[in-house]
Amino acid sequence: MASFPRRLAAVLSRRRSEGLYRQRLTLDSAQGPVVRVDGREYLNFCSNDYLGLAAHPRVVAAFQQAAATYGVGSGASHLVCGHSAPHHALEEALAEHTGRPRALLFSSGYMANTGILASLLQAGDYVFEDRLNHASLLDGGLHSGARFQRFPHGDVAALRTRLAAADGLKLVVVDGVFSMDGDTAPLRELASACAAQDAWLMVDDAHGFGVMGERGAGSTEAAGLGGAEVPVLMATLGKSLGTAGAFVAGSEDLIEALIQQARTYIYTTALPPAVAAASLASLRLLQEEAWRREHLANLVTRFRGGAQQLGLPLMNSASAIQPLLLGDAALAVRCSEQLRERGLLIGAIRPPTVPAGTSRLRITLSAAHSPEHVDRLLEQLAACWSGS
Ligand SMILES: *Cc1c(COP(=O)(O)O)cnc(C)c1O
Repeated sequence: MASFPRRLAAVLSRRRSEGLYRQRLTLDSAQGPVVRVDGREYLNFCSNDYLGLAAHPRVVAAFQQAAATYGVGSGASHLVCGHSAPHHALEEALAEHTGRPRALLFSSGYMANTGILASLLQAGDYVFEDRLNHASLLDGGLHSGARFQRFPHGDVAALRTRLAAADGLKLVVVDGVFSMDGDTAPLRELASACAAQDAWLMVDDAHGFGVMGERGAGSTEAAGLGGAEVPVLMATLGKSLGTAGAFVAGSEDLIEALIQQARTYIYTTALPPAVAAASLASLRLLQEEAWRREHLANLVTRFRGGAQQLGLPLMNSASAIQPLLLGDAALAVRCSEQLRERGLLIGAIRPPTVPAGTSRLRITLSAAHSPEHVDRLLEQLAACWSGS
């Protein structure tokens, strides 16, 4: 007979038998190149703290000072009385940095994406998404009421065909840098396909913002695209900025419409003001310290060069995300565990996060790593490979 306890037990035993069971680590330290877990130190190659700002003294100090002034809780949603001066200052700075008229903060990237898509789209519209888009974009598109179509990863020709066949308002949505593959969307080609078919382009730049582009404004800056080509630009604060939350940047009307309609903006408590103040300190650091981006790019080159020599299964990525494609889920888990024994933290990414048969080790590099850290990573990977 069906019951909830039986259903849960079945899910758990299936996950275990398929090698897909997930468990959390509990850290006893701040994020950084070295983290402590269960009393042991590990070299950390799985964080999204790409610029090494999550525990930066200036960011921590901004957080502490704002907490002393504004307290911890924001007290309410933005539209009631939770919107404070640090939130406002951060929105203005993000708009300026991205070259857009306005920006709007959300409490998380997941909420930003679902809120944006639900507000922009209506029944009868079309939304086209790269099939490797982040779960929050896929969920937002599926639940938006619009006709939802996935196109093959990076396949602009396939997208063009679909756009031409669609009759209605059309929104194309992609990750700027794909979170599990590390490759970049063909943004210029996508923008021209959208322009030709009168479609809007939305870019989720969670992994490009802060890292890509001359000024760290992200993948769209690197591709030379502004608000005319990418009217909806979204990015998160929890990755290269090292804090938490997300924002969308765009026109005055886009932002005002989201304030009126986005349910994930309206019906939730605003981020703590201190998180906004810390994020502004991070933004200033990424603007002042271009060396972080350059150092990170050098580490990526060093890693790829070394991995190529070792014959490791690199993917087509120029970003801080450098996955090694193993295929089998159990193999990915075994490698991740062996590396853990050797003092390295690297996540095994398995279905349903990635398609079946494409399990991988997701290695991420950070400006907080030294070249020696990367060399140690390569050494341990080599040892692991020859042993397995
Ligand atoms: C992390 C991520 C999100 C979600 O952002 P959170 O602030 O962690 O909720 C959305 N999109 C992409 C591409 C991401 O990598």
